[in-house]
Amino acid sequence: MAENLLNFDAQQLAAWFAERGEKPFRARQVLRWMHKIGEPDFAAMTDIAASLRSKLQAEACVLSPEVVREEISEDGTRKWLLNVGTGNAVETVFIPETDRGTLCISSQAGCALDCAFCSTGKQGFNRNLSVSEIIGQLWWANRQIGKNDEGNWPISNVVMMGMGEPLLNFDNTVTALRLMLDDNAYGLSRRRVTVSTSGIVPAMDRLRDECPVALAVSLHAPNDDLRNVLVPVNQKYPLRQLLAACQRYLEKAPRDFITFEYVMLEGVNDSVQYARELIALVRDTPCKFNLIPFNPFPLAPYRRSNAENVRRFRDVLMQADIVTTVRKTRGDDIAAACGQLAGQVQDKTKRTGRLIEVRS
Ligand code: SAH
Ligand code: SF4
Repeated sequence: MAENLLNFDAQQLAAWFAERGEKPFRARQVLRWMHKIGEPDFAAMTDIAASLRSKLQAEACVLSPEVVREEISEDGTRKWLLNVGTGNAVETVFIPETDRGTLCISSQAGCALDCAFCSTGKQGFNRNLSVSEIIGQLWWANRQIGKNDEGNWPISNVVMMGMGEPLLNFDNTVTALRLMLDDNAYGLSRRRVTVSTSGIVPAMDRLRDECPVALAVSLHAPNDDLRNVLVPVNQKYPLRQLLAACQRYLEKAPRDFITFEYVMLEGVNDSVQYARELIALVRDTPCKFNLIPFNPFPLAPYRRSNAENVRRFRDVLMQADIVTTVRKTRGDDIAAACGQLAGQVQDKTKRTGRLIEVRS
């Protein structure tokens, strides 16, 4: 079967070329053609010897996941539904802003962690995405939108905040991150690539050592009792361990703060009392907060906090000198906001039969 070269970072591609008696600079050239130029056709790689081109055509391919649907929101947000085989689909979201373009990427089909407020979690886990499926989202979205007037790709920032827990698909995520950072591929700055995690403590340490990028941690609660319910993986890695891991991460992180994400659930975690508890919790951890108004999905057992409560919560944190932003909800009309990325994953757990019915 043809080898999909989107699965390799620079080093792996060089090794694959070496096995075929080809020099490392050839691998670098092909890497640039594929990612920097966005060319999937070896025949079009004109500065590569014809003999190598035909060898590549015979043995390799450049294949990103098949896009089965595109939706464009009134606010310019674009969502693509990607077929990742055997009834699984994942979603990628492009969020244009005046000074940057952000792509929200998925790392798994479904998710095993079952956070109480997350539609992806309600689907259960289907499988890890391959490197070509992860980086293929960036590859495809860039090509789809096209280079801007300065000849640059439109995507300047990547957030791994789509479907799945990136740190539970560690190796493939890190290989994809390396491509995002590689100057011969996308050349994004480490500060503009963010991994969001629900708090897989040992993997946070590995990420710090192997490929530190900006880190967002889904906190959502100031104490273990509440977090155990909202983010069940807290039972395995409780808050004390999580915050210690955040501090260790900061020793090598490209930014000098952790972003804590906090979904605002009415009457559940949005009181001023909880804000005060949070301040005490993060006292020793340089951080910023990003409050995410809950995005409802069919049969969700929560409601979005009202704007007044969100504002009050933010003010309490700000008064303690914690920079706090409220995430703008984008792509609401196409269900592209955080936690709404249900996809149309075939349900293996039977938990979401009704959910899929409602959405289709
Ligand atoms: N698994 C990772 C990354 C994907 S989720 C994580 O949990 O961090 C990206 C962000 O969206 C997380 O902060 C997650 O808690 C949040 N989120 C999930 N469901 C949501 C919902 N319904 N409304 C608002 N935010 C949600
Ligand atoms: Fe998984 Fe993140 Fe959703 Fe939790 S919030 S179920 S970790 S995708």
